[in-house]
Amino acid sequence: MTSFPLQASRVRDSALPLRRRLHALRECALDCAPYGFRASWHHLVVSARIPRRLEDDPDALVRAVEELQRVRDVVVPRAREYAELRRREKAAGVRVPRTRPPWNSWGGSGIAYCPDLEHHPTRPIAEVVRGVLDRHAAGIPSATHCLACGIERPRAERACPTCGVHPAGPAAGWYGPSAAERWWRVGRRDLEM
Ligand SMILES: [Zn+2]
Repeated sequence: MTSFPLQASRVRDSALPLRRRLHALRECALDCAPYGFRASWHHLVVSARIPRRLEDDPDALVRAVEELQRVRDVVVPRAREYAELRRREKAAGVRVPRTRPPWNSWGGSGIAYCPDLEHHPTRPIAEVVRGVLDRHAAGIPSATHCLACGIERPRAERACPTCGVHPAGPAAGWYGPSAAERWWRVGRRDLEM
């Protein structure tokens, strides 16, 4: 059982201190991180416009958790459907799954992992995730196509030059120019927006 619903209710609870609500949002983003935690967090800070001083716009925390909720609305029903399919397959003696679903990874980070925390799709995460899962279900191979934006890959082993998603998932690690220093700034929400 995931802690997402509980943590999301804390993010929305305006009676709680803002620091506490930010911490709950972080827990939600650890639980639901389709681009990997760092790139997902960067996306949320930018898309929900989470300010350096949370007091300036407390509703930003709610906008961010709602974006993650929409991602879960896409992933959770499909994950349940898949679990049900596997249950039936196992009952019928099919031990090894035919395809491994991309959400079977830490925080769902195998769906659209972006090693460079500032190079990720700019569309809402739920839209990107829906595209990846639809292309995956249609059998499009990630070696030849980027499942996130649909383009044909120029280099199979590299992150997509268009949207930043890496086909190797979290195994690609995280990198980019001065990655650690940039992550420190994102963590403080110290961004030019
Ligand atoms: Zn792409």
